[in-house]
Amino acid sequence: MNFLNIDTMIMMTSVSSLLQSIVLVSLWYSANQYKGISIYVLGNIFSCLSFVGFLLRNIFSLPLEVRLVNNLIFVSAILLHSIGIGQFLSRKINYRAWLWCFLLFLFSQVYLVYYFDDYFWRNFSILITIALAYGIGCKYILDTKIINYRVTSLSLAFILAATPLIVIMRLILLLDGQTHSIFTQTFANSFTFLSMFIIDFLRNGFFVLMVSQRMYSELHEVAEMDFLTQVFNRGATARRINKYLGGKTQTDVTLILLDIDYFKKINDTYGHDAGDQVLRDVARVLESALTFPELLGRWGGEEFIIFLPNCSAREARDRAELFRYNVETQNVYYVLQPLSCTLSLGVVTAPRHQVDLDELLKRADIALYQAKRNGRNRAEFVIIP
Ligand code: GH3
Ligand code: MG
Ligand code: MG
Repeated sequence: MNFLNIDTMIMMTSVSSLLQSIVLVSLWYSANQYKGISIYVLGNIFSCLSFVGFLLRNIFSLPLEVRLVNNLIFVSAILLHSIGIGQFLSRKINYRAWLWCFLLFLFSQVYLVYYFDDYFWRNFSILITIALAYGIGCKYILDTKIINYRVTSLSLAFILAATPLIVIMRLILLLDGQTHSIFTQTFANSFTFLSMFIIDFLRNGFFVLMVSQRMYSELHEVAEMDFLTQVFNRGATARRINKYLGGKTQTDVTLILLDIDYFKKINDTYGHDAGDQVLRDVARVLESALTFPELLGRWGGEEFIIFLPNCSAREARDRAELFRYNVETQNVYYVLQPLSCTLSLGVVTAPRHQVDLDELLKRADIALYQAKRNGRNRAEFVIIP
């Protein structure tokens, strides 16, 4: 089979590995804020070196020691990939076990090169170490509760899990006894190089995608959060409410616009830092009485919005009273001194399909103004039929 020519495949795998290393080094340069990337990239450089080693061994007749070192670099690359992935996912890594794994491999190779020169068992030792290392890499991913970059990390896990299957396949193919070196033109070798080429390519591709998906999701999170209170900011709140209002089910929705009473006085009396602490604590108190998919957002200054999908006018009264009560009765501690504050709330309830956000806000704002006018620390209600 000419198209599976070993010389060409070794050449192509080496070139591909070199090019991927270049891409990964630039990834390391641009995204080095995450642990594990440098180890993973180092693994790939090792991988590239080992392919160059294969290339040289194929061209020149090199001593036994070169073969040994070549195999050590090749397997080290695999171990580094898995350790890098583990670090990236903040897994607890047992470095001692990894070291033992490497030493065991080293001893087995020395033994199988100098004392019991057997091609099949040498392959067995390499392949079993690879399968074990990638198996653990795969376990690192499956053990991680990943929400934000699940698709890419699971794809990577799938690629790692495929490696033990390829290992078993090569061992079975080696049993025919025709392959005595990685360079002989046999199906076992062609299969192996083709598999390495594919695995290398996909593993690196999904690793890069996983890093970029993580970066994107973290940036997205930062862009949606209010820095001080860690609740949704104005833009994210509006987007989410609009998205919900655009849905199909016909239920009542309630929007609460609330404002801290005499907040300026807190700032003036205790300082701006105390005011910030009050804002953070009020956000926590409000948040603790919400369940998904209800949402809390900071609308601006000391004004917040609570959006309750699927909440009738009757329930809205109880909920608004609970928010008001919770904030009134909970002390905020700033530098050990207890501060307290109250809320005024404008509450509007409407059938979901009949209103847009502007309308809800306009009505809630009028109700809030009424609550302020009627003495503060209270809620006023509007029902749109
Ligand atoms: P009212 O009961 O009528 O709402 O009175 P108020 O004092 O709460 O209202 P006013 O709008 O006069 O004051 C709001 C203050 O909130 C003014 C502003 O300095 C302060 N503020 C806005 N954003 C922040 C913030 O992020 N941190 C702090 N500490 N203060 C803020
Ligand atoms: Mg205000
Ligand atoms: Mg206020």
